[in-house]
Amino acid sequence: MSRSSRRFDHFSWPQVQEAASQDGSTLVWPFGACEQHGPHLPLVTDIFFAERVLAAVLERLPASFPVWMLPSQALGFSPEHQSFPGTLSLSASLVNQMVLEVGAQLAAMGFRRLVLFNAHGGQIGLLQVAARQLRAKCPEMAVLPCFLWSGVDALQALLPDGERERGLHAGLAETSLMLGLAPELVGSDRPQDGEHHDPALSITPPAGWSLEGNAPYAWLMEDLSKSGVIGDTRESSAELGKQLENALVAHWLNLFKSLMESQWPPANQSQGL
Ligand SMILES: [Zn+2]
Repeated sequence: MSRSSRRFDHFSWPQVQEAASQDGSTLVWPFGACEQHGPHLPLVTDIFFAERVLAAVLERLPASFPVWMLPSQALGFSPEHQSFPGTLSLSASLVNQMVLEVGAQLAAMGFRRLVLFNAHGGQIGLLQVAARQLRAKCPEMAVLPCFLWSGVDALQALLPDGERERGLHAGLAETSLMLGLAPELVGSDRPQDGEHHDPALSITPPAGWSLEGNAPYAWLMEDLSKSGVIGDTRESSAELGKQLENALVAHWLNLFKSLMESQWPPANQSQGL
């Protein structure tokens, strides 16, 4: 069986059967969104990043690891961007149901692990909820919902604190990464906008509450930004983008290696408890 592409949908059905039966057979499902990313980045930004980083990670893993990429989920849950043209958002219940239905079919084929490899910050919680439900429904299959930008320690040295914490959308990090990967998709605007930048917004958020993290206020983009950007893109560059790409690939390569070398999930789950 050729594994060069590591694509699930390049298999024939007998190849799927063989792949699923391998010890630790693992599928990775890229999740993104079709949503506004300011006046300078394309709608495809999140799924583009998920696919590109994942492809780079998978091609660096030993060929013997049984891991393949599912077709991307390019539409996501994006109500916070819906007042901007171009955003196509699915309901939370639909995304949840899709994860449960597709996941249950993969578990029934015999796959042992499913990673939800998500690059859209607005659906982190939703995919965690869906993953927990899928695991409860199909305990023999591990489900791992992760977010591209989370837990990547090397970002501390690459991004200023303010931008790392609050440059949440189409800011320095995303603009630079896209300049590094596909500059032809990046427009010439370099907005500085969002929570702390836009003097045109009359109401500032309550002190102590935050965009994300400990006490978040479930923002809609129009609360915070007229451009659709939360962050400061002025220093963005392809050079920084390359450094971010290297950091992301190295981080996820480590995590996928440790997953593929592990015995997770516990074997007794397949017999029921
Ligand atoms: Zn994004």
